Amino acid sequence: MTSSLATVSYIGATILFILSLGGLANPETARRGNLFGIIGMAIAVCATILGPRVTPAGIPWIIGALAVGGGIGLFAAKKVQMTQMPELVALMHSLVGLAACLVGFASYVDTSTVFPTPAEKAIHEVEIYVGILIGAITFAGSLIAFGKLSGKIGGKPLLLPGRHLLNLAGLLAVIWFGSEFLHVHDIQAGMTPLVIMTAIALLFGVHMVMAIGGADMPVVVSMLNSYSGWAAAATGFMLGNDLLIVVGALVGSSGAILSYIMCRAMNRNFVSVIAGGFGGGAPAAKGAAAGAAEPAGEVTPISAVETAELLREAKSVVIVPGYGMAVAQAQHVVCEITKILRDKGVKVRFGIHPVAGRMPGHMNVLLAEARVPYDIVFEMDEVNADFPDTDVTMVIGANDIVNPAAQDDPSCPIAGMPVLEVWKAKTSIVMKRSMASGYAGVDNPLFYKENNRMLFGDAKKMLDEVLGALNA
Ligand code: NDP
Repeated sequence: MTSSLATVSYIGATILFILSLGGLANPETARRGNLFGIIGMAIAVCATILGPRVTPAGIPWIIGALAVGGGIGLFAAKKVQMTQMPELVALMHSLVGLAACLVGFASYVDTSTVFPTPAEKAIHEVEIYVGILIGAITFAGSLIAFGKLSGKIGGKPLLLPGRHLLNLAGLLAVIWFGSEFLHVHDIQAGMTPLVIMTAIALLFGVHMVMAIGGADMPVVVSMLNSYSGWAAAATGFMLGNDLLIVVGALVGSSGAILSYIMCRAMNRNFVSVIAGGFGGGAPAAKGAAAGAAEPAGEVTPISAVETAELLREAKSVVIVPGYGMAVAQAQHVVCEITKILRDKGVKVRFGIHPVAGRMPGHMNVLLAEARVPYDIVFEMDEVNADFPDTDVTMVIGANDIVNPAAQDDPSCPIAGMPVLEVWKAKTSIVMKRSMASGYAGVDNPLFYKENNRMLFGDAKKMLDEVLGALNA
């Protein structure tokens, strides 16, 4: 492939990636967006392999690597459960970071490139230094995020004494070693500051994510998504690959926008979340994620038949899905119940919290998979004011996102996070298996409210029973 054909292919791929991002912004066009992304990536890979920078001798190596990498990817994608998707995404981000580090070191030891001027050499070295820095932070941070999301590492934040000073010292050391790196004249001498900086960046990545309390993980997940984009862009600079620079910048900036949206949704200051280890109040220490918070009152249980009765008599119902719906894979039966209720003339809507589940857009993906009509799926802000006029709210496997303590208890780890005010409806029904707390490890006063009922059991099993009772 000639160089100009490769450039045209890169431009085509770039346009497809932009169209893909545009498509993914809306559930109705998301499938098309995905398709654009797949075609764009196929073009990009072909143009790179067949492009002028790959010698024929290199092609079997690339095809071998593609077969191994593609095989692992295919296996992982087929094997992974929907509930494990966030972990898989975190793991993928870590690979982008690792790739940036490896490309950085390889570029540094590669003596085949001759730079016409010292300035160009210095620019290349800055690209290498910054690329490895971002790559190492992304790699280590994403691995810890993987551990936290999969429950292998506890959700409790690790708050080291003087952690801000530690971060500042790390930053100053990185700058100092950077200037050392740029001033040495041979590769061996440059390796020392480069390796030390990499070690500091790895430690910073670990520290940054370990300091995040359970409920603030969404910001970290989207931020690492952004970092992985910048790591890819840095790799593009090191390799002189324009497409990688553009695609990396697209992912980096869209991830940054997503982080901003997540912060806004959680009423958090972005810098404070990253530097401060928010979400670490006392209750989280009781055991984030799987922890069973101490019961703080009496709850009123309800049966599936009684739930069906309440739903049948309601004029307006709001369904609030959470992580438990994903665990139970209850989205299809939720959709069937919705159909039946709507056929009976009940106004049914869905209220989606921006951080529901374990990844941005988690609930929207599940509801789209079950073919719930998009026009009855609303964001938190669109539906929150309507709860006082709602007869029944059905909370399916959600916990933190409907916790009134976020509004009432300034000392709780999720204090200040906007929540779906389901308790303002005439009756709220919470479906979950036990009194265990959610991801943030906070007890939920909603369960003890007078107008709240608890439907205990696996969400899919209980909803099947509700469906049966509705059909009876
Ligand atoms: P939560 O984790 O707060 O609560 C989920 C609830 O689902 C649990 O209390 C659990 O209770 C219940 N549950 C689990 N399995 C089942 C099942 N099979 N059937 C019925 N219920 C079940 O989830 P939310 O969606 O309310 O909130 C999301 C939380 O995750 C927030 O704290 C958010 O910050 C955090 N987070 C979000 C990310 C994102 O990007 N969206 C990323 C990382 C973290 P029980 O065990 O009793 O059944």
